[in-house]
Amino acid sequence: MTGEVGIDDDFADAGTATFDRERDLSIRNNIRDLIEQMTRAIGRIDEGNYGTCERCGNPIDRKRIDALPHALLCLDCKRREERVR
Ligand SMILES: [Zn+2]
Repeated sequence: MTGEVGIDDDFADAGTATFDRERDLSIRNNIRDLIEQMTRAIGRIDEGNYGTCERCGNPIDRKRIDALPHALLCLDCKRREERVR
């Protein structure tokens, strides 16, 4: 091992740290969105509305609830929302 290799390693680490920071921020936003959805889903359980679509009021498919317990929208409304974005 020479000193030069050590310097190269430091540069490589700096680059990785920047990438990790951006990735972490993006993951952080995703988790925040999830927490918000989960909080709203819990609120709907308290209101007795859990399992119905927040937008159209139709029952959310049972398989969807099993896969995504925090789902607030039925599949139709979710697809519509994603198309608008
Ligand atoms: Zn709906």
